[in-house]
Amino acid sequence: MSICTAPVYKLDKLNNLFIELTAKNCNQRCSSCYIDFPISKKTKDFLAIDKIKKALEDIQESDLHCIYFTGGEPMTHPDFNAILRLCLKRCNVCICTNSSFLNEKKIRFLKKVEDENGENTTHNQIFFRLSLAHFDEQESDKVKYRGHFRQTISALKILSRYNFTSVLSIQNFYQLSYMVLQENFAKLFLQNEITNTDLQINVSYPVNEKNDSVYPAQKTDCMYGRILTQNGVYSCPFLSNDYRGRMGATFKDYSKSVTAETDFCTACSVNNNWMFTIG
Ligand code: SF4
Repeated sequence: MSICTAPVYKLDKLNNLFIELTAKNCNQRCSSCYIDFPISKKTKDFLAIDKIKKALEDIQESDLHCIYFTGGEPMTHPDFNAILRLCLKRCNVCICTNSSFLNEKKIRFLKKVEDENGENTTHNQIFFRLSLAHFDEQESDKVKYRGHFRQTISALKILSRYNFTSVLSIQNFYQLSYMVLQENFAKLFLQNEITNTDLQINVSYPVNEKNDSVYPAQKTDCMYGRILTQNGVYSCPFLSNDYRGRMGATFKDYSKSVTAETDFCTACSVNNNWMFTIG
């Protein structure tokens, strides 16, 4: 008989709410994406705004620090602006995006939305989480898609001009040393006048480690967060819509513990830091 030795992570506090605005709709196809996309790009599986309102009511008592919009590409949601305004009333919002919608016009608009919100009662902010795989354009685009590197650098540049804070997540596909990555990204930021941007270096997944050879992590996204999807509540964006990450149907009654038994959980253990959470 084999005994399951996977660590169990308890939800400490619900500080982070991830919202999967769409599971399968994206305007791009990154080669390294962990989502199993349908061949057609026409899937319209957008999460209804009423489900989001209901979830926010159910967790009224939770001390939410940040709501993360994930996908698919969350900015393809037809009610994106209304959902953003709704969530900003509650706490900070982080948009996890492939950056392709972040042109000057859109960023100017998002600044207006943030400012309008500040004029009311809260001073909640909008953050952005973008990602690259390498500081070299061609190497990064091989892992993402052609043109992605330029779009991302351009978006970070404009976001800096509008005083937005961003996190650039590096999926360390090439397994470079942190020092090499930090030095080269610092140069890139300087050349492109990118400021207010933190680097978050993550292990690339899947990792070549066996689940039972890794130690329990000190920090995982599932210790402080849950994700809302069309199909209910799940442990984290990696395991959204995967039965192994299912935590319940709604936020009225959901599980506070996760058995970290998947390959993604192994990546979290090796990373030993947030994969999605910023700051
Ligand atoms: S993959 Fe998700 S459930 Fe598993 S350890 Fe990481 S954050 Fe937790």
